[in-house]
Amino acid sequence: MDSSVFNVVLSQDIQTYKEKFDKYLNLNHSLDSIVFFYSDKIIIKDKNAREDIVIYKDEIPVIAKLLEAEKLEQLEQFFNTKKARVLSNREKDSILISIDEIYSFHKKSHLPLSGIRIAIDPGHFANDIKTARVEQRLLYFTIQKGNKKDTVKLLEGQLTYWTAIILADKLKQQGAEVLITRPNENACAFGISFQEWMKKRKDKVLDSLYNQHLLTYDKYKKLKTCSEMQFFNLFFKEYELLQRSKIINQFNPHLTIIIHYNVDEKNNPWKNPTFSNYSMCFIGGAFKEKDLDKMINKIHFLRLLLTNQIENSEKISHLTMQYFENYLNINAAKKDDAKYLQTVCIPTHQKGVYCRNLLLTRHIISPLVYGESMCQDNEKECKALSEKNFEYNGYKVPKRVYEVADAYYNSIIRYFEEVFFKNYSSKN
Ligand SMILES: [Zn+2]
Repeated sequence: MDSSVFNVVLSQDIQTYKEKFDKYLNLNHSLDSIVFFYSDKIIIKDKNAREDIVIYKDEIPVIAKLLEAEKLEQLEQFFNTKKARVLSNREKDSILISIDEIYSFHKKSHLPLSGIRIAIDPGHFANDIKTARVEQRLLYFTIQKGNKKDTVKLLEGQLTYWTAIILADKLKQQGAEVLITRPNENACAFGISFQEWMKKRKDKVLDSLYNQHLLTYDKYKKLKTCSEMQFFNLFFKEYELLQRSKIINQFNPHLTIIIHYNVDEKNNPWKNPTFSNYSMCFIGGAFKEKDLDKMINKIHFLRLLLTNQIENSEKISHLTMQYFENYLNINAAKKDDAKYLQTVCIPTHQKGVYCRNLLLTRHIISPLVYGESMCQDNEKECKALSEKNFEYNGYKVPKRVYEVADAYYNSIIRYFEEVFFKNYSSKN
């Protein structure tokens, strides 16, 4: 069986890569002076306008496979030695032989998703008010309920976790192997709670990074003494997201689902409910000039350019948006609903689906959907999300959360039926 038939584009005209670059990757022409397309090659230049990486047309199929199959450290080594050099036929052959069949799948039962690996990332991690304040993912306000006042307390990390466990259970019933990046409601991606991490691991991690010269002395001192919230913003947020991407990539998923619940940006500082409500899905792309500074980011960029990952992400996201709109009854966000949709995103041809260069949409090596199903602070949703009025496997959750999990579930089933298995059978 062909090893990575799902995401690799076989040799095409460079022109099609240029079109893809304009459509998904080049945010406001920021990369016009860095990435160049010729009839026989693609060039990435460095700060001094020297050729840093050159990919020749006939190398594309091999490099595309390598970008999906190889570990990031090996890829860095590979591109640091390749640079503008032409790969010999022997090198190309040996790359093809060495690539593991990581994207192949082997059916183990008659169930429709047997042999399929799906990663689920429930966004954020706070399961208590103190931690939710640190990660700034707490909605806390009073609302009118009939003629009484009531308090709304929503922790995004709880909503995403409940959604993830329901979705995981439904997918397992269809035969899928499922990974959730957080092992329980209290844990972050390091397997323990943030508070426990702060107590037991913070000092060791900072010392070790400082000793490896990965932190300057000033930054090290600052991180040792600053408040928890500053520590979260300056260090932990990105550090923990990287851990999520590592866990996901080690699992070699065929598909990744990243679950978030949004708030209405114009409702800042979220002291009252809003009448607005909208949904959106993010996929990778939308690079700015400074996003291409390090080799690792050039590798992510090349993977999105040369493989089919971004097109497949667009397909699962389009399906997800259909369920958000028609099943959850939440309209797709329009560009003027939020500033970030105008400044850091490229809208795709699919309603509500935007390219955005987030750490996870860049680092994860599989088709993905980063879903923001609704605004939690919407006047109706905040009530629906506060009520634990539904039981699933002995777990009390809001009915609305079950519906969100079901929306993801239905779109995943359709993605495998309509995209994944179709591609697979046509190429085998
Ligand atoms: Zn979120």
